[in-house]
Amino acid sequence: MTVPPTVPAAAAETRPVIVTVDDDPSVSRAVARDLRRRYGENNRIVRAESGADALDAMRQMKLRGDQVAVILADYRMPAMNGIEFLERAMDVYPFAKRVLLTAYADTNAAIDAINVVDLDYYLLKPWDPPEEKLYPPVDELLSAWRRDDRKPVRVTKMVGHRWSGPSTALRDFLARNEVPYRWYSSDEPEGQRLLAAAGADGRELPVVITVDGEALIAPTSAEVAARVGLATIPERDFYDLVVIGGGPGGLGAAVYGASEGLRTLLVEKYATGGQAGQSSRIENYLGFPDGLSGGQLTDRARRQAIKFGAELLTTREATGLEVNGPARTIRLNDGSAVDAKAVILATGVTYRQLNAPGCDRMQNAGVFYGAALTEAEACKDQDVFVVGGANSAGQAAVFLARFARSVTMLIRARSLEQSMSYYLIQQIAGIGNIAVRTCTEVSEAFGDGHLEQLELRDLNTGTTETVDAGQLFIFIGASPRTGWLDGVVARDERGFVLAGLDLSEDHLAGWPLDRSPFHLETNVPGVFAVGDVRAESAKRVASAVGEGAMAVMFVHRYLE
Ligand SMILES: Cc1cc2nc3c(=O)[nH]c(=O)nc-3n(C[C@H](O)[C@H](O)[C@H](O)COP(=O)(O)OP(=O)(O)OC[C@H]3O[C@@H](n4cnc5c(N)ncnc54)[C@H](O)[C@@H]3O)c2cc1C
Repeated sequence: MTVPPTVPAAAAETRPVIVTVDDDPSVSRAVARDLRRRYGENNRIVRAESGADALDAMRQMKLRGDQVAVILADYRMPAMNGIEFLERAMDVYPFAKRVLLTAYADTNAAIDAINVVDLDYYLLKPWDPPEEKLYPPVDELLSAWRRDDRKPVRVTKMVGHRWSGPSTALRDFLARNEVPYRWYSSDEPEGQRLLAAAGADGRELPVVITVDGEALIAPTSAEVAARVGLATIPERDFYDLVVIGGGPGGLGAAVYGASEGLRTLLVEKYATGGQAGQSSRIENYLGFPDGLSGGQLTDRARRQAIKFGAELLTTREATGLEVNGPARTIRLNDGSAVDAKAVILATGVTYRQLNAPGCDRMQNAGVFYGAALTEAEACKDQDVFVVGGANSAGQAAVFLARFARSVTMLIRARSLEQSMSYYLIQQIAGIGNIAVRTCTEVSEAFGDGHLEQLELRDLNTGTTETVDAGQLFIFIGASPRTGWLDGVVARDERGFVLAGLDLSEDHLAGWPLDRSPFHLETNVPGVFAVGDVRAESAKRVASAVGEGAMAVMFVHRYLE
């Protein structure tokens, strides 16, 4: 079809255009309608039902001198898919912000598109309510488009190799912090050209080239964070509230703390989102009947926290906590310290390591802890193994089965029933390329530079079998890393932080106040614990978020 301009051309000329293309006429109309409702006054909305039509329209607009600010394209379109279309659209309007509309199943294509077409955002269908899902990202893209005044698009580049552990780790770091970058393999010509330009021989990978053209050879994540716009240094020395840990509990606390007027700092050692950020699909979080990915939840929570004025530090780890009169001092891994009136500990748990020989050596080179969502595409046509029988392992198996030739779940127990939710067991049973091997453990991992084979031991008979393996994803329980609180905050024998009624008289021997600790308050007045790190917690996203919010209420009472 020919794209009908939605307003007379003369009247539209000064207004930046938002282009939307979807081959399904009803979806196409619905997107255009929602866009027009919010942006119609200041922008012209042009809709098309195929990539070819949209390109024709854009060429005409180019000739007329119209400006295109944002392009939204559906991924699955016949003849020319959304990525191909966006790639060609870049030739016409290289500075327009690019959004891909995808179904959940195509998330990985969208992640790839970040590299192929410098995608600025991918939006999952359905986008209802638009106030929550469509408008916030489009608002941001429009203001970014206005801000950059159509300067050339410059992105961070990374040259690495699939089997280089540090390259994979840095990709995961950037992806989980939602930092756009372009990936080049060191064995491809363009990757080699970049290495040569950076004066690197490729032996030390990755090499990161910042938007300013600075080359960083095998940098730490903190070095990269500081150069890609992630805050790593606190703006003040003193805060009302410091939240430690940026998972759902910490983000919940930061949103409520900042929105209620507390000067709030959140300190995160790796990437906001915590464990939830690794989840391919959270199905039991209230208000999202179709589920949402951990990345989406994190992105929204982070934007919400920043909107309310919370400061978010990344790659900063809390390494000590001291009580200095009314101040609570938090020592950070770079040797600096910040003071706060109150502290919320939301440091969650970390996966335990698998002790089988070989796993350590090949971590991030075929052996991964947690879901490592960025690896999904690499699982194509591979035989993939998932160790663990809890929900997180089940979710990963379901997700990976869409990419891998086969997924084998390895569990030591006799069945999944003891450890996994019924709905997931049912899902797994219905997926043809997932097998569950019970009473089995990994006894060794083999490979030359990357994982190639696994030795599996049958726990009933003791016999072993060696199988070809492309990837191994490990989910074998988790423990809190709270050693840095030694001598200050009371914990149980496994390291989980004790709070409220879980504190015994012994723990409260030095308690200085007339009142008892509040619910969620530790043996140190003004220091609270929420989410998975708290002893006896529910180990769920919703409960971590709820506790984060509730702890802020107790912070207010404490400050009174
Ligand atoms: C793959 C996967 C799928 C899951 N799926 C679901 C699901 O579908 N539904 C559900 O309800 N739950 C699910 N869970 C569980 C859920 O994600 C957790 O219960 C939840 O994330 C706990 O939140 P939290 O904030 O307490 O801790 P975490 O999410 O563990 O976050 C803690 C954060 O603190 C940071 N940190 C730790 N120590 C320090 C330090 N010293 N200094 C600074 N930062 C620090 C960590 O880097 C981390 O980002 C899943 C978990 C996983 C791993």
